[in-house]
Amino acid sequence: MKTFCGRANPTTGAMEWLEEDENYDYHQEIARSRYADMLHDKDRNVKYYQGIRAAVSRVKERGEKAIVLDIGTGTGLLSMMAASAGADFCYAVEVFKPMANAAVKIVEKNGFRDKIKVINKHSTEVTVGPDGDMQCRANILVTELFDTELIGEGALPTYEHAHKYLVQEGCEAVPHRATVYVQLVESKRMWSWNKLFPVHVEAEDGEKIIVSPSEMEDCPGVPSVCDIQLNQMPSSDFTILSDVVTMFSVDFSKPVRSASTSYRVQLEPVKSGKAQIVLSWWDIDMDPSGMINCTMAPYWVKSTSAFQWRDHWMQCVYFLPNEEPVLQGEKVYLTACRDEYSVWYKLQKARGKEENKAAVRVESPVCRCQAHLLWNRPRFGQLNDQNRTHQYIKSLTKVLQTDSVCLCISDGSLLPVLAHCLGAKQVQYFLMLLFFLKFFKANNLEDKIKIIEARPELLTSSHLEDKKISVLVGEPFFTTSLLPWHNLYFWYARTAVTSHLTSSATVLPQSASLHMMIVEFQDLWRIRSPCGTCEGFDVQTMDDMIKNSLNFRESKEAEPHPLWEYPCKSLSDPQEVLTFDFRKTVPEYSLSAEGSVNLLRKGRSHGAVLWMEYHLAADISVNTGLMQISNEKGNCEWNPHCKQAVYFFSSVIESETLSDLPSAVTYAINFNTKTGEIAMDFKL
Ligand code: SAH
Repeated sequence: MKTFCGRANPTTGAMEWLEEDENYDYHQEIARSRYADMLHDKDRNVKYYQGIRAAVSRVKERGEKAIVLDIGTGTGLLSMMAASAGADFCYAVEVFKPMANAAVKIVEKNGFRDKIKVINKHSTEVTVGPDGDMQCRANILVTELFDTELIGEGALPTYEHAHKYLVQEGCEAVPHRATVYVQLVESKRMWSWNKLFPVHVEAEDGEKIIVSPSEMEDCPGVPSVCDIQLNQMPSSDFTILSDVVTMFSVDFSKPVRSASTSYRVQLEPVKSGKAQIVLSWWDIDMDPSGMINCTMAPYWVKSTSAFQWRDHWMQCVYFLPNEEPVLQGEKVYLTACRDEYSVWYKLQKARGKEENKAAVRVESPVCRCQAHLLWNRPRFGQLNDQNRTHQYIKSLTKVLQTDSVCLCISDGSLLPVLAHCLGAKQVQYFLMLLFFLKFFKANNLEDKIKIIEARPELLTSSHLEDKKISVLVGEPFFTTSLLPWHNLYFWYARTAVTSHLTSSATVLPQSASLHMMIVEFQDLWRIRSPCGTCEGFDVQTMDDMIKNSLNFRESKEAEPHPLWEYPCKSLSDPQEVLTFDFRKTVPEYSLSAEGSVNLLRKGRSHGAVLWMEYHLAADISVNTGLMQISNEKGNCEWNPHCKQAVYFFSSVIESETLSDLPSAVTYAINFNTKTGEIAMDFKL
């Protein structure tokens, strides 16, 4: 059987439906899953085990049999904990078939076949009764259905259903309760992920300011949460405006309501400033007393001794619909609204007593300006990066003449506006969405920049009013790119429009290069590393399954990660491995490089990081990867607005001393010009 998978083709920029082996999807899901990360989360596992033991004891003390329902059992871990803690029987429910199959094997291997029944169903399909999936309702409800936003994976409707149909009244629940915390902050850095700041352009005839349309200024943005490793955000990048307050909590041992609702708290700002962002995280109490607590609180809230790195649960950044000035000591109301799966926030000044709770129902934010649909958070940050903009300004200044005819190929780019500010007086052309017309109108450029809604290969001379292009520009940036080299689509587009270029046309960037470095991750290695045993349970079946899925394709693939969130140190010098000359068209043949990099520092070689650098003009480059190696230990600083490609080695080489270091890692990297993909192989 075959299945179809949607993917952007990096040579055409278009979405394509590719025929794949029917197992492709599930192998992808397993290979990229968070199961390994969860199993490595010692703090989580230990606390679940403590909470489960305590719940089983409480039930036994009441003289009852302990019947456990484990919803979303995954590897079966929590059920095995319950069985070891003395539970009489466990129903382990798992909707994802490959996982349910793995759970059966793992349960058997660990000797719990008689105590645990794996049910491959969604919990809402589970039946209770003599002929049902469960003989009777359970009196202990165990789940781990939470995401960074707590409720995004559907925990609330699942609990609501389970209390109605699958568990007894007065059951024990592990976790017993979850609490969501918030803190109000001002942060230019985080706000720059949500609003486009005015761009200052120093032109020959004075400074010009590019502004965004007013509907963009007032737009509440999109409701989706921004989840990040907040612990990587230095305290100098935000100002705390309020104490940490409890926003709401959910008691999982009682019937849960998933219907939309809102919660309101009063805050007394500890500092005056601009309220822009609500930072949020949650904790779970594994027992009713709250003695066994697992928290996602960031570094400035919890003691670092309690620190556990994890990627399956992070922290949330919510953007307020508008920035609101607040004064120290002058109370404000913060409202959290939620539906079944997501949360959003609104801030209001405390006016008077007449303000009642019903009056503050807020609709889920809907982007009205379209920019939030076109640009994701890192893209906003990138466009607001003045330093980066400056590189484009410098290079455009070098190449533009007053009579230049420009064509810009990039998604949602400000380059045409920059080009106009910098003196290109001819009408310029722009392969883009009509959305941008608003932007040009806000800057009185609607008759200076023409939007051509055509794909590069369909560009005709009439689109260009019979003019030839003298300057072809791109950032390059395309929303469909997953891995850094997918932005090489610019090269393919450049090739497609060749017949429209003048013989001496300038292409900016003129070239790109692919760079590579061997690294040791502080923590990210965990997400792809085998677990072996977890709290004494043999979960190797899971490791094998992940390994098998990773090997499903004959060559392993690199994966995108925003490395500013994942500290690592360099073990080799960065090395340029391939170059792409945009002044020429894409060649017919593949581009490949073989070589070796020397290991310079002791450490564990977890993998290689790859990134692109764009050479705009001689001596002017934009780097999407390594910004610098900040100290002699090799700690790396990465471009905060881009994802880099990470290729995890299948076995880690570890060296305690420099003398036992293998001197080098050899690599073979191949850019297939037919597919636009890069295949790589490393030997240690
Ligand atoms: N309990 C495991 C795995 C947790 S991951 C552990 O703690 O290590 C959550 C799992 O729940 C996923 O495998 C997902 O497929 C499954 N799941 C989520 N909602 C479910 C539902 N309502 N019914 C059955 N399985 C569900």
